[in-house]
Amino acid sequence: MALENTLKSLEPKDPGTTADSSGKLQRIIVVGGGAGGLELVTRLGEALGRSSRAKIELIEKSRTHLWKPLLHEVAAGSMDVSRHEVDYLSHAYWHGFGYRFGEMVGLDRSQHLVHLAASHDEEGRLITPERSIGYDTLVIAIGSVSNDFGTPGVSKYAICIDTPEQAQRFNRRLINACLLAHTQTEPVRPGQLHVAIIGAGATGTELSAELHRTVRGVVAFGLDKIDPDKDIKITLIEAADRIVPMLPRRLSDSTARLLGELGVEILTGARVTEVRADGVQLAGGQFVPSELVVWSAGVRGPAVLKDLDELETSAASQLVVRSTLQTTRDDDIFAMGDCAYFVPDGATQPIPPRAQAAHQQASYLTKLIRRRLAGKPTEPFRYRDFGSLVSLGEFSTIGSLMGFVAGKGMLVEGYIARMMYRSLYKMHEMALHGPLKMTLDTATRFLTRRTEPHVKLH
Ligand SMILES: Cc1cc2nc3c(=O)[nH]c(=O)nc-3n(C[C@H](O)[C@H](O)[C@H](O)COP(=O)(O)OP(=O)(O)OC[C@H]3O[C@@H](n4cnc5c(N)ncnc54)[C@H](O)[C@@H]3O)c2cc1C
Repeated sequence: MALENTLKSLEPKDPGTTADSSGKLQRIIVVGGGAGGLELVTRLGEALGRSSRAKIELIEKSRTHLWKPLLHEVAAGSMDVSRHEVDYLSHAYWHGFGYRFGEMVGLDRSQHLVHLAASHDEEGRLITPERSIGYDTLVIAIGSVSNDFGTPGVSKYAICIDTPEQAQRFNRRLINACLLAHTQTEPVRPGQLHVAIIGAGATGTELSAELHRTVRGVVAFGLDKIDPDKDIKITLIEAADRIVPMLPRRLSDSTARLLGELGVEILTGARVTEVRADGVQLAGGQFVPSELVVWSAGVRGPAVLKDLDELETSAASQLVVRSTLQTTRDDDIFAMGDCAYFVPDGATQPIPPRAQAAHQQASYLTKLIRRRLAGKPTEPFRYRDFGSLVSLGEFSTIGSLMGFVAGKGMLVEGYIARMMYRSLYKMHEMALHGPLKMTLDTATRFLTRRTEPHVKLH
């Protein structure tokens, strides 16, 4: 037996393994298991972790994953989260990577260590102690948070839709407001059932259409003291001169027309100066009475990036990366998705914070990390903009697709746009689960939607 082991140790190493001279496997750590990070760690786990060619680990502060572009549906109450969320622990087990529950709060580049905070349960009991995890290659994929640009009252009175918990909190507040309006003895106050959505990018615009439908759905379940046409109002507030400014003007106009027909009030060229308990104050003096306020007017990098062992950050606290997605000051640290700031050669703007960018970067980094470990040269990352699509729930989907007709953009609406919009989520599910599970999950959800109420009432 001893002879067998000795002979084994003399055998040439599998060219695919990534052990260093001391025989220790390379440790690749991905922090953040969102739209981009979870795809990356799943692919690396399948390619390298499962066959023990490298040690792949995910550090993530949540226990389950929900694809972020679904959050407006959670906020509006039209989605059952449990049908879409992915459990990190079991997903890691099936895909060859390790899941380390915890929040990154610091970094020591010289020691190659990621510091994690201690975590506690609702009653203050310790779940995981403070600890540090070593890495050889580190990928930071912790997404973004809403940027309130220091506007007074936002953190106190408005809700941002950055996490499933925030989206669910908004939905509970909305249902509770409807229950109160139905049971109180006095008439419904002005603003009591008004929702002001600040920021008419894709998130705010999609939320306004989805809310229009679901609030009426809730009221239809017997809250007959509320008159939807008189008591409920949704106002979309945008500082630019048009809504969904990333779409061509023609599509912004059709979106505005459609929302107008639904009764959504649109205020463009409107800068918010303060959010109060009873509504939103605009520059120029106009006040929008509203007891339910959503802030969706721009994003920035999470606070932890601001001082992450002197890695370079942008004005919006994202990590500045080169064309290989390596951070500018450390070759062993990569950043991807919303938390990365990358301006491609010849471009004037950074790659936008979108799921399609995170998806493309996950595919790119899977290849790059494998080639890098094998000592092969790497190509730079090239972003391909496939266009933007905005879902107005059951009413329509509108958008522009890039590069389909002789390299030019194509405007799409209706059924085709809706299919294209859904395909981005299908691609994400496919990257995580493969084609069979993705198809089965889609079919199950399709069938259960036929038999369940379309709005959540709790
Ligand atoms: C309502 C809504 C609708 C959207 N619609 C679209 C759309 O239609 N099309 C599109 O392309 N994009 C859309 N987006 C944008 C898209 O969701 C993001 O661009 C995308 O999710 C970014 O992916 P990511 O992997 O960088 O970050 P995320 O998906 O946000 O994932 C970040 C992960 O990191 C974890 N994390 C954060 N901090 C830490 C920490 N310190 N330690 C450990 N873990 C941490 C988080 O828990 C999370 O799991 C939408 C966004 C929203 C909010």
